[in-house]
Amino acid sequence: MRLGGLQKCSLDDFPGKVAAVIYCQGCNLRCPYCNDQEYVVPQCFGPPLPEAEVIEAINRRKDRLEAVVVSGGEPTAQTDLPRFLRELRSLGLAVKLDTNGTHPEILHSILRDELVDFIAMDLKAPLQGYAQVVGRPVNAEDIRRSVWLLRNSGVDHEFRTTAVPGMHTVRELKMIVEMINGADCYVIQEFVSRSPLQTGLNGRPAFPRRTIEDLRPYMERRVKRFEVRTHDDAVQMPVGKRRRAPQPVAVG
Ligand code: SF4
Repeated sequence: MRLGGLQKCSLDDFPGKVAAVIYCQGCNLRCPYCNDQEYVVPQCFGPPLPEAEVIEAINRRKDRLEAVVVSGGEPTAQTDLPRFLRELRSLGLAVKLDTNGTHPEILHSILRDELVDFIAMDLKAPLQGYAQVVGRPVNAEDIRRSVWLLRNSGVDHEFRTTAVPGMHTVRELKMIVEMINGADCYVIQEFVSRSPLQTGLNGRPAFPRRTIEDLRPYMERRVKRFEVRTHDDAVQMPVGKRRRAPQPVAVG
């Protein structure tokens, strides 16, 4: 696996658990609002972290950890992800995967072999407008298939969208939730204009919180649980996927 970073302890990335977070290098998409250039744009990559050292660093801390999260970049863009997840699982920690859902074949093998305890999948846009929002061509059938796999997996999961004014409208946010009507959990995350890939988004304000809260009744009629995650949550609340405040540190 090409690994770019390790955050040794996070209260924000696995619901209800103290977790280490591993950041994979490389992503097949280029979402303009992405804050993770160092794991997405090859020219921004640091030296890769040796996989054995990452696993050893987590193993040394496993008495203080409950879980490990594999994030990115896009982990499923690497074909040896299932093997890597199996090794992490052997440490006896709960395992969570963050994914953009564009590699359903990898997702299928991960779910079939029961390699994770939780999956968070991004839904970037209504299927008709996906490519414009993610900056790369995407096969809508792959997204549909990943949604289907997750919803029928029996594994805890959530779908989530980073809502970006100018890239999403309220109508489009409603169209996204229609794609997963009846799902367990849908999360709208607040856009953070911290070093986005597209510099034109720098400083762009997030949707007014009132606008997103006004969507709550609509969303709650369609999914079993609807959450709004704000940048404040990331600093204050130890639940769910947040924008991380500290930068990941090297192995050691
Ligand atoms: S937001 Fe996720 S899917 Fe989009 S470019 Fe960043 S890492 Fe890749």
